[in-house]
Amino acid sequence: MQKTDVAVVGGGIIGTTAALELQHRGHAVTIIERDEPGAGTAAGSAGYLAWDDIFPIPNPHVIAELPRMLLDKKGPLVIKPSYLPHMIGWGTRFLLAARPSRVRRAIAALSEINRYAEESLVAIAEPAGAQRYLVRETAFHVSQKPESLEDAAAHIPTLRSYGFTVEVIDRETLLAAEPALGENLAGAIAIAGAYRCTNPGAYGAALAQRFRSASGTATHARATAIERNTDAWNVRTTIGNLQAKHVVIAAGAWSGELLRGLGYRVPLESARGYHLMLPRPQVQLSRLIHFNEPHFVATPMEQGLRLAGTVEFAGIDAPPNDYRADMLFDIARAYLPALERDGAVRWMGHRPSLPDSLPVIGPLPRHPGIVGAFGHERRGFLESGITARCIADLVEEKAPPIDLTPFSIERF
Ligand SMILES: Cc1cc2nc3c(=O)[nH]c(=O)nc-3n(C[C@H](O)[C@H](O)[C@H](O)COP(=O)(O)OP(=O)(O)OC[C@H]3O[C@@H](n4cnc5c(N)ncnc54)[C@H](O)[C@@H]3O)c2cc1C
Repeated sequence: MQKTDVAVVGGGIIGTTAALELQHRGHAVTIIERDEPGAGTAAGSAGYLAWDDIFPIPNPHVIAELPRMLLDKKGPLVIKPSYLPHMIGWGTRFLLAARPSRVRRAIAALSEINRYAEESLVAIAEPAGAQRYLVRETAFHVSQKPESLEDAAAHIPTLRSYGFTVEVIDRETLLAAEPALGENLAGAIAIAGAYRCTNPGAYGAALAQRFRSASGTATHARATAIERNTDAWNVRTTIGNLQAKHVVIAAGAWSGELLRGLGYRVPLESARGYHLMLPRPQVQLSRLIHFNEPHFVATPMEQGLRLAGTVEFAGIDAPPNDYRADMLFDIARAYLPALERDGAVRWMGHRPSLPDSLPVIGPLPRHPGIVGAFGHERRGFLESGITARCIADLVEEKAPPIDLTPFSIERF
């Protein structure tokens, strides 16, 4: 049987970053990944890496809008009708998490973790040579309707209270900065100092390469179970067993399966998201732009312009729904009239999603030596560095830089 100090199950951005941090601190680490380490969901993400994303999805406004949203085929959120019965438990918890007191606590928890997100991300990216894929800029949140701009502006006092430099810019200033935008806009919120990733796939590959070149082991296999083995843990995989003192469960939206085997039932769903990569968009944006109606992101990347976003609940195994990727083009064209889709490539990925919008980062209470790191929803790339720091501290029995109570698995 193979042995290691730390087995990291899942080599997405969370697992690969945690493995690198642990390796950097001197631990022998093995990543168990059924595909390629560093090539998980983040590779298809929008590449928005700014800590202003501190608002949980469940909130009274979203609950009020939910019936209308669910009836809109092009809406930001859809549930496949046949999947509805599976969403009852998750949905009930989502409704409870939308209570104002819970929302306030979630904002406080997210602002706390995100406060460390950028510096932790850069600290990991630099030695791996991945910082060349990060640029810093002022990101825009653009609205068509004045009411939508007002809704977005309502967040400004909260954002400023957490230290962000945020301002409202009018239509003329917006069009002067981004001439490819159409005329039918109310204005935007500008957020200074946001990171954008220009090639998320290459970023993840650079981290994985760094891990391997520093003698890290990446086992190409699927983990099927984790079992107790006197003073260590035995991770069963499709190609044999691995004995480890510590195990990190970082299998993204698939983490629930391994946890169920250990006796934990976590309401983890895949909030499926899509992107459409446009290699020849015929329009140029100088920065990442969020569009508010409905919400999606357009990110200039090395390969072209990536349109990404929207949420679909249809289960983890359902095939991609091409319509959800294609509709991103139609929605985007309403903002970017000259946009072309020649050579467009569709993609679907799984945001690991818990109903309160907070990840699980912490020990499994009945299994000393096993820690969970999953459920980062739409912020997993951003929060990969700080999650890695916390996981490494837990493995080393040190106090992590943030209070992990809101992220405990015991809240379920
Ligand atoms: C459209 C879209 C846009 C996004 N945009 C952003 C953004 O702009 N900014 C941001 O911060 N985040 C963004 N996200 C979210 C972010 O991509 C995710 O939160 C993050 O990638 C989750 O990383 P992870 O490592 O937890 O999971 P994953 O990347 O899904 O990795 C899990 C890995 O575990 C492996 N695995 C699963 N089960 C097993 C097993 N049993 N054995 C072995 N291996 C296993 C899988 O193969 C996979 O590689 C976006 C997501 C989507 C879908």
